[in-house]
Amino acid sequence: MDRTKLYRRFRTLLIANRGEIAARVIRTARAMGLRTVAVYSEADRDAMHVALADEAVLLGPARARDSYLSVERLIEAARKTGAEAVHPGYGFLSENAEFAQACYDAGLVFVGPTAEMMTAMGSKSGSKALMEKAGVPLVPGYHGDAQDDATLAKAAEKAGFPILVKASAGGGGRGMRIVRSAAELGPAIVSAKREAKAAFGDDRMLIEKYVDNPRHIEVQIIGDSHGNLLSLFERECTLQRRHQKVIEEAPSPTLNATQRETVCAAARKAAGAVNYVGAGTIEFVSDGKDVFFIEMNTRLQVEHPVTELITGIDLVEWQLRVAFGEALPMKQDEIKLNGHAVEARVYAENPTRNFMPSVGKISTWRLPAETGGLRIDAGYREGDAVSPYYDAMLAKMIAWAPTRDVAIERLNRGLEESDVRGIVTNIPFLSALMTHPKVRANAIDTGFIERELAVLTQAGAAPGELELCAAVAAIVNDELRAAQAEANSPWQTFGWMPVGRRQRSFSFRVGHGAEQRITLNYGSGPSTLVIGERELAFAIAPKDGGFDLTLDGVKTSVAAVITGHELYLRTRNGRFDLHWVDPFGGESEEQSGEDKIAAPLPGTVVAVLAEEGAKLEKGAPILTLEVMKMEQTLRAPYAGTLKSIKCKVGDIVQEGVELAVVEPSGE
Ligand code: ADP
Repeated sequence: MDRTKLYRRFRTLLIANRGEIAARVIRTARAMGLRTVAVYSEADRDAMHVALADEAVLLGPARARDSYLSVERLIEAARKTGAEAVHPGYGFLSENAEFAQACYDAGLVFVGPTAEMMTAMGSKSGSKALMEKAGVPLVPGYHGDAQDDATLAKAAEKAGFPILVKASAGGGGRGMRIVRSAAELGPAIVSAKREAKAAFGDDRMLIEKYVDNPRHIEVQIIGDSHGNLLSLFERECTLQRRHQKVIEEAPSPTLNATQRETVCAAARKAAGAVNYVGAGTIEFVSDGKDVFFIEMNTRLQVEHPVTELITGIDLVEWQLRVAFGEALPMKQDEIKLNGHAVEARVYAENPTRNFMPSVGKISTWRLPAETGGLRIDAGYREGDAVSPYYDAMLAKMIAWAPTRDVAIERLNRGLEESDVRGIVTNIPFLSALMTHPKVRANAIDTGFIERELAVLTQAGAAPGELELCAAVAAIVNDELRAAQAEANSPWQTFGWMPVGRRQRSFSFRVGHGAEQRITLNYGSGPSTLVIGERELAFAIAPKDGGFDLTLDGVKTSVAAVITGHELYLRTRNGRFDLHWVDPFGGESEEQSGEDKIAAPLPGTVVAVLAEEGAKLEKGAPILTLEVMKMEQTLRAPYAGTLKSIKCKVGDIVQEGVELAVVEPSGE
């Protein structure tokens, strides 16, 4: 195909994506003088990427199938706005050859490889066949066309358990199961196929030997339409949960210079096998000695910023230049590795509940400034809603420094200075990861998070004297601020006027723990706080996001967020969630509801696994929901009898709806 037809100069770019990557692409496109067009679904009317773009087009309903995955509506949006090119971002249609072809057919430049290259490399099976030919080392396994049970079983037996069943079209860890014995194979294939069909519309599977305790190493490459192809060093993405990356760094601390050159050369060979054009990533697993090709991603990846920070190259700029039909501006030997970069993915999810996504409104969004080597690529702002329809990644925090240790230090500090409230986030979990001695020592493998989960999600320290004082300070600070805003407040007349000595008592509780009391003395003379026998001189000076608290002459900075009776504090000792037991608040203990078998989030019932009347052990699976593209199995909260199932396969259920009832057995 004539490449001058595929790649040529354009002025208006449509970004067929949402969230942080849409915002990220818009930033560079604008800097290059392009006009930008955002697209959005009904759930994203007020989203950040819509606000950032020059123009925006509503695609359709929230469901991705009706909006971000609708080729027809995207092409129509481009036509309506006079867009000449499309950047697909990552996820959604970024690796969809039909979409790339549809763009071409509509006279649009697709910022990425051609449909043929995608077809060749996009499926894990196809690319493995190609790599085999090119002499790139592969994980032993099966990547053929035949998909019958017998063939797959034979292939698994031949590779030797444990094996991985993987969706050929897979991505984001979906449609993938570890299988440790022949007996587990059948059910694993059924469930992986179902997930793959729902996620990618393609349920072809491949079998791979499962490399024990591997590392994930990948190489960034980029090619132009003039036959130039460069590798931009490697990234190590070994810290994963559910086969999904959470922390990525560049360069890999595992490789020495020789190994680095070997893996980069293998990656160039892999991409060279299809004369690759655009940005792409060649992924490998490593057993510590050798690296084996697992797949190629024919798009920009989430973790591309770490590569940008160590090379000084803006990958989106290079993608756009390649799409303009230009030659890459550098030669391989001009690309230099400088320092170290680490990225953390900030998700709306709850690490203590199996990383269940969290949806809702972001009531507080405070991230540190992008100074001192810190970069933040965000897709959300304060007040934005996190909907159940899309991936729950909120932002990426990336730190650069001359050395790995300092980069980790900077990233951790950035995380510690971040306060995101209203939804549950993985920020404390990320902090725990970055401070874990084994992470610092690079003594990790892809199973690390799963093994260390208890340590990584440990509840923080119990609140001490400082936190109790800070809690009182937070309430007082909040009331004073409200008083200043409202001239006739009683605080103006009584509360803080020096009219004799006054006293006020507070009680706080953490979780279901005991109440802790603290008394504030104020009025004439200096204020003090009394905890038990101790009395501390106390002063506060409000500032952005909190206050400076002085206790017995020592000043310390406190970040605070108050929502009703819930206090969130960040002190030098860490993060604390306290409940203010207000004597006038009419406390009512909410039923915890954990025994209810209810949809944790809106989702679709994909399987019913037990029959009404069945006797269930505690933890027995009852039904499977697909929630935010992940399968979640709801289980019996205690041993008992399954009294009723209130849903059927295919039902779309709302959050909190009871789906089944288990009657506890006798005792
Ligand atoms: P996806 O496209 O869904 O991300 P990948 O094939 O890239 O799937 O694999 C995701 C992760 O699963 C890898 O980063 C690695 O940690 C693990 N993995 C993949 N293949 C193997 C394998 N053969 N042995 C061990 N771990 C693997």
